[in-house]
Amino acid sequence: MFVMRSVIIHYQEIALKGLNRPWFVRRLVRNLRAATADLDVVSVRTLMGRIEMQLGPTVAWDEIRNRVGNLFGIANFSRAGKINLDLGEIIEAILKALDGQQASSFRVSAKRADKRFPLTSPEIEREVGGRIKAARGWPVSLSNPELTVHIELLQSEAFYYFHKEKGRGGLPTGVSGRVLCLMSGGIDSPVAAYRMMKRGCRVWFLHFHSYPIVSSVSQEKTKEIIHLLTRHQLDSRLYMVAFGEIQRRVVVTVPPPMRVIIYRRIMMRIADRLARKVGARALVTGEAVGQVASQTLENLAVINNVTSMLVLRPLVGLDKEEISFESRQLGTYPISIIPDEDCCQLFIPKHPSTKAKLDEVEYAERNLPMGDLVAEAVTNAAQEVFHFPTGQKSLGMSGKANC
Ligand code: ATP
Ligand code: MG
Repeated sequence: MFVMRSVIIHYQEIALKGLNRPWFVRRLVRNLRAATADLDVVSVRTLMGRIEMQLGPTVAWDEIRNRVGNLFGIANFSRAGKINLDLGEIIEAILKALDGQQASSFRVSAKRADKRFPLTSPEIEREVGGRIKAARGWPVSLSNPELTVHIELLQSEAFYYFHKEKGRGGLPTGVSGRVLCLMSGGIDSPVAAYRMMKRGCRVWFLHFHSYPIVSSVSQEKTKEIIHLLTRHQLDSRLYMVAFGEIQRRVVVTVPPPMRVIIYRRIMMRIADRLARKVGARALVTGEAVGQVASQTLENLAVINNVTSMLVLRPLVGLDKEEISFESRQLGTYPISIIPDEDCCQLFIPKHPSTKAKLDEVEYAERNLPMGDLVAEAVTNAAQEVFHFPTGQKSLGMSGKANC
């Protein structure tokens, strides 16, 4: 099937977005080009409501399938053959491509994008179906065929294909703006990040670590997870903030039951400041109501109280089991479960408060030089960028957040 050198890509949800549609499609085209920049891809262009990617002779289909399958904004895609808009030529090409293939039943599904073609879609289906049946002897099954021969007739060319790969859905990366995800390296936050990516957001990451008080495992895990997630959005950025010293200060001034809440409030303040600095429009966390002590409604409200930014919690109503399932599908689960010393496990009290009261928490924070702690954390944040497909990570400007 060496002649099948095109990929036909259909977008679905984005087709419904009215006025934004041309912009969304341009974005998707740009993402497709970037995702295959190192492969033998001749061109990617829009074509009457779909996208055609033209493959060069050396590219492996499996690689293309992986890359295209990882991007958002795609309903389905197919490896296709391109042919002149001539029914005789179309039939000949299809018969040739089917040479050597077997099917217990088949059907033909034709779509005309240009209604000027002299035959209607059902007429084309009957004509092509009749010729395949005559040549191969396969029975036709309209309801449950083993093989479907798809034909798309456009203005000056036609495409045929036999398999539809399911796309990842969602919206093309970049159409919804930038968000900053608080990323722990645990199970939940990578899933939360993925869900926002799927909605077209460009996700940047913020990780708090307690190195050198504890090992650098949480940082390594976080980087590995971001490396994986970057296949879906192609460019990522990670900010790493040293949190151990802040925790030490919390430990000396704050009574044990309130420490976790206050760690979280400080994280949120730092995230808020950093997000504004780097132009992120919302914060993202992996919190779910009731999952752990810090995630009761009362505590979430007290944590949320330090920021006026939009805080997105895409997992808020999910069970841990559901989140773990998604994490496995995503491939982040094995990394997430590697044991590490989460910076919040460090100095963690035995009985954290589950019903924090705002005035009490604010009182407990009174001796912390909050403004300085936050400003210092943002100034000293180390930064790393991730790219796909190059796979290279490079350290940002002297390890400092320079945005
Ligand atoms: P996760 O599996 O994402 O770590 P969790 O169930 O362990 O979630 P917590 O550890 O209480 O829950 O964290 C709640 C949320 O706070 C996380 O989903 C993440 O968004 C943020 N968070 C927690 N620890 C960190 C960290 N070290 N760096 C950045 N964000 C963090
Ligand atoms: Mg955690």
